[in-house]
Amino acid sequence: MVRRRPQRTCIGCRQIDTKRALVRVVRTGDGRAMVDPTGKLAGRGAYLCTSRACWQRALDQKLLNRALRMTVSEEDAALLRAYAESLPEPVVGAEEAAGK
Ligand SMILES: [Zn+2]
Repeated sequence: MVRRRPQRTCIGCRQIDTKRALVRVVRTGDGRAMVDPTGKLAGRGAYLCTSRACWQRALDQKLLNRALRMTVSEEDAALLRAYAESLPEPVVGAEEAAGK
């Protein structure tokens, strides 16, 4: 029997991936939105892939608000943007980088 891995959808690009490949953002009990690296915090969660564009879309187009059914505060949005900035660049030029 193959154990079914949980599948999650990125709210930015709608790409479906296993839970591990996506980053969870959780709405905490005190009404904040934050990155949940462990995926274990209690509360409604939304998932985003590790593409910066998806995080920007999620914040700019209020996709995160809709997914979490809350209004993400400016402060939390700034923290989420900072998190997105820390994500590695997409591996488009990987070949060039490896051949340096
Ligand atoms: Zn995405």
